[in-house]
Amino acid sequence: MQVVLEDVTKRYRPGQAPAVAGISLDVEAGERLSVIGPSGAGKTTLFRLLTRSLVPDSGRVRVGGAELDRLGHRDLRALRRRMGVIHQRGDLVPMSSALTNVAAGALGGMGSRSALRLSLRGPSGDTARRAYEALDEVGIASLAHARVDELSGGQRQRVAVARLLMQRPALIMADEPTASVDPRSAGVVLDALERLATAGATLLLATHDLSIARRQHRILALQHGRLAFAGGPEELAADVVERVYAADPASAPEAGGRPLSWGCR
Ligand code: ADP
Repeated sequence: MQVVLEDVTKRYRPGQAPAVAGISLDVEAGERLSVIGPSGAGKTTLFRLLTRSLVPDSGRVRVGGAELDRLGHRDLRALRRRMGVIHQRGDLVPMSSALTNVAAGALGGMGSRSALRLSLRGPSGDTARRAYEALDEVGIASLAHARVDELSGGQRQRVAVARLLMQRPALIMADEPTASVDPRSAGVVLDALERLATAGATLLLATHDLSIARRQHRILALQHGRLAFAGGPEELAADVVERVYAADPASAPEAGGRPLSWGCR
């Protein structure tokens, strides 16, 4: 699904510095973009503008050819069903099983009676089979009946990705999906996200991890809400990263013990 931003600006409060300032962007369907930048740079705000959880003060946002501020409730809901969002700590129902959480990825295509039955009794039939397959794909089919609040952070994030595999969204926004998980789960999560993109989904991936950022087709760097860099991984030089993170060295990629220039030319 194509994503187009035209000179988009968003302030949370009048008089405050904009969280996103004059951003223009054109992302093709199937493209994989990483978004880097220190905490507070505007990454999450950018994602929220794309789901229309936030409305821009000025500028235009088009997703899948539709201008968001022209969509009525019904069309917006239909469009949101084609978007998948994954946060740093998943967004799962803690008291439900992994399987039920994954099956919820199919809710967009279910009637309200089926949705009610799913929440009361768990998935059955074809939905259950597909949810098992999705859990198997991320290596945790054996945990299908475990409650989500009994799982580790890495296992939860695998459940969240399995839910996306079930949903098959056309646009995925992943907000630091590997920030608080073990390295093995991080690998599984990334592989699954990238496979979804290979199957045609557009992937926007916010991360502080340069090695992950550099695996994508294009990198955007945000600084104080502005686009400080946009280009291919081979163009992202170490001094660009250093400049972008200069205001907040604590969240720079070197915080993980790697040198700042790690993976950069
Ligand atoms: P990032 O995801 O890169 O950490 P955010 O988009 O969360 O950045 O934040 C961008 C800016 O907007 C920051 O200055 C932050 O303090 C501010 N901000 C974010 N959410 C809110 C909010 N709900 N109310 C007021 N200011 C906010």
